[in-house]
Amino acid sequence: MTDCPECGAADCQARFDEFLALEFSDAGYGAVHHLTVAAYMLQHSSRLTRQGWLEMRGLLREFLVENKPPGFIRRQNKDKVDSGKREFKIKSKTGEHIISKSTWTKTICDVRAENAEVYCADVTEWARAALEDGEKISEIR
Ligand SMILES: [Zn+2]
Repeated sequence: MTDCPECGAADCQARFDEFLALEFSDAGYGAVHHLTVAAYMLQHSSRLTRQGWLEMRGLLREFLVENKPPGFIRRQNKDKVDSGKREFKIKSKTGEHIISKSTWTKTICDVRAENAEVYCADVTEWARAALEDGEKISEIR
């Protein structure tokens, strides 16, 4: 098992897959789905275009700092989201990193999943830390 070159956590992809499965099967966990995806993507810039990364960081700010509910943002950004497949396009095989950061205050491996309450609190803390770290990054390729 090797540490992820992007977020620094071991086996983060397996964790992410496991958490998404939990979120889709249990609404209690699913309440923070928007944060899980945005925080994970922010820490894995090779999966995003430059524009996609900046949008992801902006979304996290809207969720966590401006406290906009995900439903509201979905409506507000409807046109954007409809064309989102283009904007958030996952990069093919090039794997080029938008940012070089690999040391994050928290990663998906800091999230505990024994019950929905703990899970939602931990995902929120992780997303908040990822946003704070992300906002300090000035070098974006
Ligand atoms: Zn990772």
